[in-house]
Amino acid sequence: VSRFEGVTMAPPDPILGVSEAFKADTNSMKLNLGVGAYRTEELQPYVLNVVKKAENLMLERGDNKEYLPIEGLAAFNRATAELLLGADNPVIKQERVATVQGLSGTGSLRLAAAFIQRYFPDAKVLISSPTWGNHKNIFNDARVPWSEYRYYDPKTVGLDFDGMISDIKAAPNGSFVLLHGCAHNPTGIDPTSEQWEIIADVIQEKNHIPFFDVAYQGFASGSLDEDASSVRLFVSRGMELFVAQSYSKNLGLYAERIGAVNVICSSSDAAARVKSQLKRLARPMYSNPPVHGARIVANVVGDPALFSEWKSEMEFMAGRIKSVRKRLFENLSQKDKSGKDWSFILKQIGMFSFTGLNKAQSDNMTNKWHVYMTKDGRISLAGLSLSKCEYLADAIIDSYH
Ligand code: PMP
Repeated sequence: VSRFEGVTMAPPDPILGVSEAFKADTNSMKLNLGVGAYRTEELQPYVLNVVKKAENLMLERGDNKEYLPIEGLAAFNRATAELLLGADNPVIKQERVATVQGLSGTGSLRLAAAFIQRYFPDAKVLISSPTWGNHKNIFNDARVPWSEYRYYDPKTVGLDFDGMISDIKAAPNGSFVLLHGCAHNPTGIDPTSEQWEIIADVIQEKNHIPFFDVAYQGFASGSLDEDASSVRLFVSRGMELFVAQSYSKNLGLYAERIGAVNVICSSSDAAARVKSQLKRLARPMYSNPPVHGARIVANVVGDPALFSEWKSEMEFMAGRIKSVRKRLFENLSQKDKSGKDWSFILKQIGMFSFTGLNKAQSDNMTNKWHVYMTKDGRISLAGLSLSKCEYLADAIIDSYH
């Protein structure tokens, strides 16, 4: 008899489990719209040209594989803070930013969560309802209590702004407020710039600490600066805040696990202390981060020619998703005779569309139409091609009605 009799079978992950089920399906019409990973119009994974060029540079230079310091590659940490905040942001010169390279967005969120658990043991984190499924796992595993604030309004398929504001107001002073910097996952609905100002007002009044998750910088608008404007607004108000960054999507570095945690502090002294404690937390967890992705980012951001090439590749990716979004809307509007207004699809931002399909309808999408998606009704438009939009529209209309 095994010593592991007491170990029960864990359920499949609600997002990554979808890819496993997709692989096992032999139907030729199958579509994987579960995970948010960019595909070409031929539905193939895509390695950016600038990434290949940066990797060639690394080979030419004969870069070695020595350990990085606990906080990561210095050139990466500088580049990532500049990309987020703008190179001329005064907080950088004032050395008020504690930046530590993380294991992509997830690892950076997890490290920040460990920091919150250690230094703010009485604080809770407010997360949007709904949010990316892994947020709850991350805070649960880090033993950080959380509760939800209203965000999505199914009636308008838009933002429940009043609900959001009143829930943030009702939370105990000094709570952490997790915000998606841009391209909210899974809804694709972002606050307007006027709404961001009000969110910042309320967070300041309540002495809350903003915690931005920035996983799609460049993927919402196609512009790196515009997509960082929410974070920069809060920084310009002199607030202290956390930001977790990821290069999975915007540089297509999914498997390289490259991202960062940045803590913007009100003094350089505080930033130095915060950074020292982040390093102390990282050391027993994974010792130091991987170098490959960090060098790619540092090479791309640090070289003006590669940087501008990256921007145009990103605009191209964001543009392909926008054209698929438009085509899907057109197909749905033409084919659906029920009179339903599908324009919400056009208003959503980023890689995803939140279709409003419930669990049973999402099951129909998969079981009958071989369309794989998460059970909250989210589809990844990054995994859709123009030529598959019509098929998808048929599947959605059939599942809705
Ligand atoms: N935050 C959000 C909102 C995300 O959608 C994702 C990716 N799906 C991440 C963080 C982190 O992804 P990764 O760990 O690959 O950077």
